[in-house]
Amino acid sequence: MIPKIAIIGGGAGGICSALAAGKAAKSLDASVEVHLFERNPRLGIKILISGGGKCNITHAGSVEEVLQDGFPHIKEARFLKHAMYRFTNNDILDMLRRRGVEWYVRENGRVFPTSSRAEDVLVAFEAELREAQVVIHTKSRVESIERSDNCWLLTINDNTFEADAVILATGGTSYRKVGTTGDGIDFAARLGHMIVPLRAALAPIYLKQKPHQDLVGVAIRNAVLSVTKGNRSLAQAYGDILITHRGLSGPAALDLSREAAMHFENDLISIHANLLNRTTEEIRALLIDEQQSGSLQHVKTWLEGLLPNAFVPYVLKQADIPLDRKWNALTRSERDHLTTALTDYDFGEVSEIPIDRGEVTAGGVDLKEVDPKTMMSRLHSGLFFAGEMLDIAGEIGGYNLQAAYSTGWVAGEEAVKFVVTSPVQ
Ligand SMILES: Cc1cc2nc3c(=O)[nH]c(=O)nc-3n(C[C@H](O)[C@H](O)[C@H](O)COP(=O)(O)OP(=O)(O)OC[C@H]3O[C@@H](n4cnc5c(N)ncnc54)[C@H](O)[C@@H]3O)c2cc1C
Repeated sequence: MIPKIAIIGGGAGGICSALAAGKAAKSLDASVEVHLFERNPRLGIKILISGGGKCNITHAGSVEEVLQDGFPHIKEARFLKHAMYRFTNNDILDMLRRRGVEWYVRENGRVFPTSSRAEDVLVAFEAELREAQVVIHTKSRVESIERSDNCWLLTINDNTFEADAVILATGGTSYRKVGTTGDGIDFAARLGHMIVPLRAALAPIYLKQKPHQDLVGVAIRNAVLSVTKGNRSLAQAYGDILITHRGLSGPAALDLSREAAMHFENDLISIHANLLNRTTEEIRALLIDEQQSGSLQHVKTWLEGLLPNAFVPYVLKQADIPLDRKWNALTRSERDHLTTALTDYDFGEVSEIPIDRGEVTAGGVDLKEVDPKTMMSRLHSGLFFAGEMLDIAGEIGGYNLQAAYSTGWVAGEEAVKFVVTSPVQ
């Protein structure tokens, strides 16, 4: 009997698992059937919506830089190290270029296809899969997996499929409407795996007091956003803030969301911002300078040189300063309030950090129970994991797709080694 590998989930992780398995079987000259099951009519829906449809394919730089900048949670970076070295950002980019996808690196290190079309990336993967002779089953939602005496049994659309090894690559639980409903995480849990609680990451932050209509769409550049409880800052993120009709988005809010979601479970938390990314002393000195110049200018006009016009009245309101206040009439206590409003602007209490709106899901299959060198379960031989369903969530910048490709690649190669050397026990 020809051994079979079943890969569940046709996202970046599952696609790379299938490619690696197909190529490994060929290079070992082994007959292995590689089957990829995807519940949607087409593979790679998240690749198609990634980077706003442009697909931030990966991040440029050395493997060490990618690990350090993309995965600030040290246990995740450690877990990924082997896989990231085994299938690197350059490996994925070389593969795409061979398939005619040109790409470029932005100043911030993010890599995009030159065409700005995620579709081109997916078409390249589909061509690779055909060449690797992967059997693709679309519209095939795997409903359950079970271990029998000598194989794995998958139930798909009321049929049974027998496999010698299974790779779970069903992604996280955000954007559920595109098919990522956490099925593989449930399968892993039923097979006895520990699941680190699922939380939002790279998600918008919703506020109890919704921003005023005037502010929707306003972007504050290069600020520091923090999660606070009482007077204590619990976590911070630097970058642009985008004000939305329900709260905050933009790079700083997305970066902060994972930590915010963690604290939000147990505490009432608020979001504050250092609007100009300056220390209290620096702002105080700046305000004193302006004041001492005895200027007849309005404070509002000065602030409009530093912050979006629409936002300035809200800063002045928080500082309790009338809109028509001129520098030469600003009182000392108003100056102190303005210093606070600029360095510790209070956006108010958080109402929700919606997991479904996250670009990635934090939490998932506990890394302690997965061998980072093979991606195989430490509880069940022949069961492998790839991608976002693992307890890994990277930063914005192409890091999450790269984690899916790399873990997928290792799982695919190792699944082939497993089926050709040791049948399921
Ligand atoms: C809006 C958005 C934009 C993003 N942009 C970027 C970006 O530009 N760069 C970046 O690096 N990351 C980006 N990400 C994150 C990145 O897309 C994911 O981290 C990555 O796709 C995870 O890959 P995966 O293969 O683990 O899971 P997924 O890509 O989620 O794939 C899992 C697949 O499994 C299928 N599936 C689920 N259950 C079953 C089942 N029971 N049976 C069969 N199939 C099943 C799903 O339909 C899905 O196709 C973005 C995410 C979102 C939501």
